[in-house]
Amino acid sequence: MNFPDYKRFLESYMGDDAFREHFDRSPAAALREAGLNPESTPEFLLAVGEGCRSRNFRPVVDRFPDELAELRRFAAEQENGNPFTVRCRNACSDNPRFEAWRERRRQGNRAVLQPMYFDRAFNIALACELGVGCSGQCGFCCFDAPPLRENFWYTPENRTLWRDVLRVFRNLLGSRAGAAALYWATDPFDNPDLEKFYQDFYECNHVWPPITTRWPLRDPARTRRFAAEGRRHGQPCCRFSLTERGELRRFFREFSAEETMDWSLVLNNPESLNCYSITGRARELQSGNPEKCQEATTSSCLSGFLVNLCRREVRLLSPCAPDEANPYGFHLWTEATFRDAAELEQLLGKIQERFFPEGPEALPFLRLSSCWTLSVSGGHAELVSRYLVRRFDVSDPEAALLEKLKTGISREEFNREFGGMLAPFGCVGGLLETLWKSGMLSEEEDH
Ligand code: SF4
Repeated sequence: MNFPDYKRFLESYMGDDAFREHFDRSPAAALREAGLNPESTPEFLLAVGEGCRSRNFRPVVDRFPDELAELRRFAAEQENGNPFTVRCRNACSDNPRFEAWRERRRQGNRAVLQPMYFDRAFNIALACELGVGCSGQCGFCCFDAPPLRENFWYTPENRTLWRDVLRVFRNLLGSRAGAAALYWATDPFDNPDLEKFYQDFYECNHVWPPITTRWPLRDPARTRRFAAEGRRHGQPCCRFSLTERGELRRFFREFSAEETMDWSLVLNNPESLNCYSITGRARELQSGNPEKCQEATTSSCLSGFLVNLCRREVRLLSPCAPDEANPYGFHLWTEATFRDAAELEQLLGKIQERFFPEGPEALPFLRLSSCWTLSVSGGHAELVSRYLVRRFDVSDPEAALLEKLKTGISREEFNREFGGMLAPFGCVGGLLETLWKSGMLSEEEDH
């Protein structure tokens, strides 16, 4: 298989409705006119196209196991050869309390977010905004980013702050601090000094994070320089969001299939078959254009800290199913401002104490997360969420505890009824521990 041409075929099919219709009518002519030779049979490509339209790839899986095995092998090689991906997968923080918190958030989300979310999301631990606002102004922006107002320039003072902030997170999170993005509700290419901040990040964390920008065509020479710098530091991947069909076609003219082999395109133009998560500004699109929106997913991939360097602001976030209370697809646990790195360090210590407890015994109020529906009868318990069902046998005290957890039980009441200070979990300790580790207990402070 010719991977660069296959990739470009997929991007063209997904993103360009004129190519898609032409290919469906006349595959050979459409490929010839686009200058593509994926070296795959038309039957396979047509089945892939049908899968893209219907979002059902089962027929491809059943009919073309050899082609899929080749593609999977190639994708696995790409992934395993990327130090950032490996860092996100294997990072071992020196902070077990943060790691356990992050894992509980991930496990809890398995109940409410599409399984595909977990295959794709890195779940980074840190995102840094090097500005305020974004010049993109995309109609579907999941963070509802305001217009660009300010950039964090690489002045001597800012350089010191930046390097100190990176060190603070490195001390708190260990190698997990490298699982980061240098943008959030910002576009990284809006900052003219971006490359210097990346260089510092690399020196501190020994990994070059990928980029996502909607401006690969604003200055193609800068795009190429940035990509080359990434490759030099072991990071071949760049991610580009294309929001208009004309942009996609210009992108194809500017950058060859071979040149973009390591890059990924987020096809956000209206004609694309891609869908948006129903977050931020896309929530308004939902009523007029429901087929462009997909439920039970989020664009948020951060379980950890969001830092805005201009505002000197830190927030603790984790992904969640978007709803009225969390319209951006993340839950905001807390936020605070700091004057300098020393104050940030103190703040993070307090956040750790308050939000990353070592066990459920630290919760003042015990309650099942509201995404679970519980039924208990005849010694059996069943917990059902949007995507998971959990069934197990329960003793009488465990059944009584589960019933209490539906609406919640204070720590004092729990101690009185199920254990007390000398036996913190009493005879229901195993169950409580399992619910805790699975992220099934609510840790939100809204009781
Ligand atoms: S989607 Fe990205 S590029 Fe577009 S406005 Fe939002 S943050 Fe900016």
